[in-house]
Amino acid sequence: MESFLGVEDYAKYPFLPESISYALRRNPNLSVDKIDSIEIMGFEPKVVLDVTRKRLITGIKSGVSPKLDDVHHEISLVSFIISMIAVRFIDDQVVYSRFAIAEARRSEGYLLEEIEKNPRGKDVAKVIFEKVSNVKLNQLDQGFLIPLSDFIKFSVKGETSWKLVNRWVYMGNVYVKHNELAHMFREISMKSIIERINKMPKPAVKGSLLELIKEIEEAKPRPRTIAYTGKMPPCIEFQMNQLKQGVNIPHSARFLLATYLINIGWNPEDIVELFRTAPDFNEKITKYQVMQISGAKGSGTKYMVPSCEKLLTLNLCKRDETCDNIKNPLQYGRFKKRT
Ligand code: SF4
Repeated sequence: MESFLGVEDYAKYPFLPESISYALRRNPNLSVDKIDSIEIMGFEPKVVLDVTRKRLITGIKSGVSPKLDDVHHEISLVSFIISMIAVRFIDDQVVYSRFAIAEARRSEGYLLEEIEKNPRGKDVAKVIFEKVSNVKLNQLDQGFLIPLSDFIKFSVKGETSWKLVNRWVYMGNVYVKHNELAHMFREISMKSIIERINKMPKPAVKGSLLELIKEIEEAKPRPRTIAYTGKMPPCIEFQMNQLKQGVNIPHSARFLLATYLINIGWNPEDIVELFRTAPDFNEKITKYQVMQISGAKGSGTKYMVPSCEKLLTLNLCKRDETCDNIKNPLQYGRFKKRT
């Protein structure tokens, strides 16, 4: 099955182990100190660096890396490796996450395109998914079957449609639609890219790549610091720390944070600011959602904070001795925000 994938697939899914092995095999001289002089397929180093710049700046700013369909596959692939070197040098978990989700979304787009448009697409999607996740799938006409334990591991926590009671389960396997498989693929790919960057030694960068890194530093999200007094409940503090580290927290955790902070009196602008370090941050969508939760948009109803019991079932409760016997995070204490 190895020959099943070609260089075009490697360029679409550059974080697969065989994509990286292929690029390194084809460019044995590719190293940090040779980036200013490396030629790929006869193209000058500047061409490779320009593609890398486009890939990184677009990805970090918009949250989706460009497809680069007009770029030679080999250059596209090498630009991913140079991008990882640049991101590793920056050494900031928010940039890692932002880059990883932008790349994962780019590849998710390709995966869905394969399934919908390409006659061999479902076979390719199955192989790619299995390679990135180590999970064996069974292909059906309108979806895939995934082993129950893997479904539980990779499902979207806290979303009703992903709960097992709402799923068709057949002989230890769970049915997932194509778009659901693509969603799992995005999350798994993102984690795999972050893991790969974390394992890389910090490179000694110089020359043009260092210049490019300065541009990326400029493009990275810069949230305003929100200061507050008092101690937050452990479940809230945990999610706020996760956000600070650029972790892609689930929707249920975002809902918890937004409802809690609105109910203790934060203004919506400060809450939007808090979400700025989320890897998939989109200012317009976040603003709308926070306003809706506050009751200023939509039905006009201000949403309540989920109970501790409900948060426990969503795996969001981080109870410690300070929680006593409270029934809702709002009972934890009174918090006054200062700007
Ligand atoms: S007991 Fe309630 S307030 Fe405490 S961590 Fe759990 S959900 Fe949060």
